[in-house]
Amino acid sequence: MKIGVLALQGAVAEHIRMIELAGAEGVVVKRVEQLADLDGIIIPGGESTTIGKLMREYGFVDALRAFSEQNKPMFGTCAGLILLAKEISGQADAHLQVMDITVARNAFGRQRESFETDLTVKGIDEDIRAVFIRAPLIEKVGDTVEILSSYKDQIVAARQGHLLAASFHPELTDDYRLHSYFIDMVRASRA
Ligand code: GLN
Repeated sequence: MKIGVLALQGAVAEHIRMIELAGAEGVVVKRVEQLADLDGIIIPGGESTTIGKLMREYGFVDALRAFSEQNKPMFGTCAGLILLAKEISGQADAHLQVMDITVARNAFGRQRESFETDLTVKGIDEDIRAVFIRAPLIEKVGDTVEILSSYKDQIVAARQGHLLAASFHPELTDDYRLHSYFIDMVRASRA
């Protein structure tokens, strides 16, 4: 099973490491032609405006929309979640617009620019350690979106069929259970 990590900017190596710890093959993705070979893809954290700009420049917008239309699993973390969203609060345009969520960028305010906490995630047995860095949150979800985790009543992880999104950075700890969860989604989509 090959899982790509979109490598235009952001936390790429850390995700590759987690994918491999979870027992799949991680692929550093820099060109659209590589997508054909993948069973699933992770869009990492970083700066969504930068990743979005590079995605447009390198033809990834149409290519990733086509990837999603084939029902191939996609997992967006932090900035990656913003890139998947149908809408970004206070912004006229969103990026890929594949997932039926509205997100607010940098939603945790100054004092909480970055922090760690333990989170309960639906489908994962025990709490996971989550690292938030200038994180977005999910303000609104469509009818077919399942909420997987909330922090202080605000949604920080969700799933819509083959799409998975998390506000935090699951690749910055040694806990790869969320990556395993995603790899299970990929396995199920192949079956
Ligand atoms: N604040 C960033 C953005 O809006 C996301 C931060 C992150 O990915 N750690 O794109």
